Amino acid sequence: MSVLLEIENLNTGYNGVSVVRGLNLQVSEGEVVALLGPNGAGKTTTLLTASGLVPIISGEIKVFGKSIKGRRPHLIARDGLAHVPEGRSLFYQLTVAENLRLGAAKGSADVKKALGYFPALEPILDRRAGLLSGGEQQMLAMARALTVNPKLLMVDEMSLGLAPIIVERLLPILRQIAAETGAGVLLVEQHVHMALQVADRAYVLSHGELVLEGDAAEINKDRSLIQASYLGGAK
Ligand code: ATP
Repeated sequence: MSVLLEIENLNTGYNGVSVVRGLNLQVSEGEVVALLGPNGAGKTTTLLTASGLVPIISGEIKVFGKSIKGRRPHLIARDGLAHVPEGRSLFYQLTVAENLRLGAAKGSADVKKALGYFPALEPILDRRAGLLSGGEQQMLAMARALTVNPKLLMVDEMSLGLAPIIVERLLPILRQIAAETGAGVLLVEQHVHMALQVADRAYVLSHGELVLEGDAAEINKDRSLIQASYLGGAK
């Protein structure tokens, strides 16, 4: 199983100040990995750094075996990294179909395949994205990411603003995508136990440092582990 994302001893942050320190993390082909931790732990910053949007202070990130240092975000994306950011960032004035077509890279559009994972979008292809429910918008954001056939998919707080029942329906789709396409999935999620149910492995960050990592099912079995790590007491 090849490693798609390799983060080694990463220090990253803003204006030279590290908010993530000494992070080691890997995502392999076909694997779902959850990145967990309380607010402000550095999860979003980690994803932004892997996308090339926040510069590395020190350490290394390799995407598909290549260092991302000095590489522009769109070039990293073109290699096969799709990032669904917090807040979905859709074109709200455009229709569902238009959003999907815009997401698709020239020549590699695979809107139909993306819709296969989110059939609920089919009947509303002509609706403006701004008029969709939160769950539909999140499906659209993920479907748009899939139109480029990503090898690595990073999803930041998919559940933000969604009812738990919707999250319960959407999270397993990430598992299905990983199994069927071989893509690696890195998932930042506040719904810890739901995330652990779909993930293979998990990492927990607290105050920018890794406090727990391991098999998701093992971590899910021992809730005291995750509680302690959220309070900064694990390890
Ligand atoms: P949340 O669940 O709240 O999004 P998170 O784990 O994703 O939390 P980050 O958003 O990565 O955390 O934030 C980590 C730290 O970096 C926080 O202390 C935050 O205030 C700080 N931070 C985030 N964005 C910036 C920025 N643009 N400039 C300076 N500091 C920032």
